[in-house]
This record gives sequence, structure tokens and C-alpha cells, in this order.
Amino acid sequence: MNPSVLIPIMNPDQSKCAVCGQPTAETTEFDGQQDRRVIQCTQCGNYHYVQVALILLRQKTLSSRQRANLSGWLRENSAEGITDKNLDRLLDLPTPTVGERAEKLLVHLGRTHPKPGQEIHLGISGQLEPKRYQPLIAVCWSENLAELQYYVCEYLEKTKAFLKTRGHSYVITPEAWSFLDQLSRNKQSKLAFVAMNFDPKFNRLYDDGIDPAIRAAGYEPKRVDRHLHVYRIDDEIIVLINQSRFAFVDLTEQKQSVYFEAGYAMGLGLKVIWSCRKDEIDEKKIHFDARQFPMLDWTTDTDLTDYRRRLTTHIKAVIR
Ligand SMILES: [Zn+2]
Repeated sequence: MNPSVLIPIMNPDQSKCAVCGQPTAETTEFDGQQDRRVIQCTQCGNYHYVQVALILLRQKTLSSRQRANLSGWLRENSAEGITDKNLDRLLDLPTPTVGERAEKLLVHLGRTHPKPGQEIHLGISGQLEPKRYQPLIAVCWSENLAELQYYVCEYLEKTKAFLKTRGHSYVITPEAWSFLDQLSRNKQSKLAFVAMNFDPKFNRLYDDGIDPAIRAAGYEPKRVDRHLHVYRIDDEIIVLINQSRFAFVDLTEQKQSVYFEAGYAMGLGLKVIWSCRKDEIDEKKIHFDARQFPMLDWTTDTDLTDYRRRLTTHIKAVIR
């Protein structure tokens, strides 16, 4: 039989998606000798599943966040689908940050509407159109329509100016295209930009802590004063940040240049890993704007074993 033939086997009792609760159709896709079941869901997309896993899933009580994470994951991993082997892992997926969720939406809109100035009709302005917005709820791992609207209107349109309205439609702005270009370039990079106080008294922190921890996570640390440069040093900083996958920032002694480099990296959409000596965190010396970020602390540079381990783990968890 032609492997692309889909035979509907509608099951009226279980015609709602076990993940998001939207109405679904179920089909069997013949793949050589065995058949693979496929669910067609307006929100989660078309995904494969193993029947025993779906039975287990229906027996569980999931939080709306777990459902949102699984629905978003299925949009990105439809071929892997839900099996009895991966079910436990899928119920414990890490939740992307608010910025990451908005970014997923922007990346999707850029891919599906690649022409500059092309109008994007999301179905969330004017009359609501579930067929248009339901897939987008999963694209940005949202729990509901209100969360999707927040990413579109408050985050991407008002705060980042990455979308602008045109009637009931949206258009991707030049700032957003530039951000998306940068994003795809940096995803390939193995470089990690290091911003910190270059006073020699911090050499041990760098040589025994930061440098080996970044290398253990699979990246190459780039510290501008140790880098053989061809441009003026301030141009070199910009060039190195532009080429990096992420930035590591140690705020100890609160240098303005370190804050500038962190801000520049964030403006490019790079992830920033924050660190500071513990006494300065406790005494609230960190600038108000940066206090909201998770901060790795260190106390002494004579034993950096634990700091090194935490830093490597943190990089591996955050930079995916
Ligand atoms: Zn679904």
C-alpha cells in the first residue's frame, strides 16, 4: 500500500486530543509492514502516538502548564510523538522562559511569512478565528489564547517593536528581521563571550573557574583582553559578541563596561549567564535591572570546584 495513504479511523468516544482537549481526527499511516497511528489536532498538529502511551496519558491529571509544554513540544517533534518510553520525560518538560516563548512565535511567523511587508492574519484581532490562532497557541507553548495575545500585543508589538499592526493584520518589522538573522547566525556558533573585571586579582576566578567550566559545557570562551585582536578593542568587543552563541557576565565590582556588554548581548537576543561574588549579591550591589536574573555566586577563588560544576550545568541547561 502507498505509505502516504491516510485511512481515517474516527473514534467517536475519544475524539478529543488527550493533550489539549481540542477535537481531533485519528488516522492510521501504513509504513511498510506496520501501521502508525496519527492524531490530527488543530492545536498540537499531526503527531504520532503509541496507543498504550495515550491510554496512560488519559489517566493522568495534568496541569495546564504541562499540557501547554507537551502541546508545544509535539508541534516541534511530531515524528517522535508520544510513546510509552518517552511519556515520563514529556510530562516533565522544562518550561521555556517568557522571552523564549515569544521568540518561538516570532521565528514561526518569519518562516511562514517570509516576504517583507507580508500581512499576517493571526485571527486574534477583530473577530476571533480559532482555526488561525489555535496552532499558534502551541507554537509559543502557551496555555491559552490570553497568553498568545500577550506575546503578540504586549511583547512582540509594544515592547520589542517586532510586529506592527496593519488593520486587523500584522507585519514583521525590519528590527525583527535583523533579530532573526542574528539568531540563526549565532545558533551555529561555539563561542562564548566573557564580560568581567579584567583586574589581575580575578585571574584565578577566570583560569580555574570560568574558562574550564565553559569548555566543559562544549564552548570556547572569548575574553577580549586575551584574544589576539585586529580591530580597536571596543570594536573587537562588538565583533566578538556578534559572533558568540551566548555571553557569560561576572558583575563583581560592578564595572560599567561589563553592564554595557551584557546589555548589548541581550539586545542581540543572546542568552546571558550571570555571575557575581556572593557578598555583593547579599549587599544588593547589583544594579536594579539585573537583579531579576538568576545569578551564580562564588565566595572564594581558592576552591572553585563547586562553582565550576554549577556553571557547566547551568550553561548546558540554558543554552540548547
Ligand atoms: Zn492537541
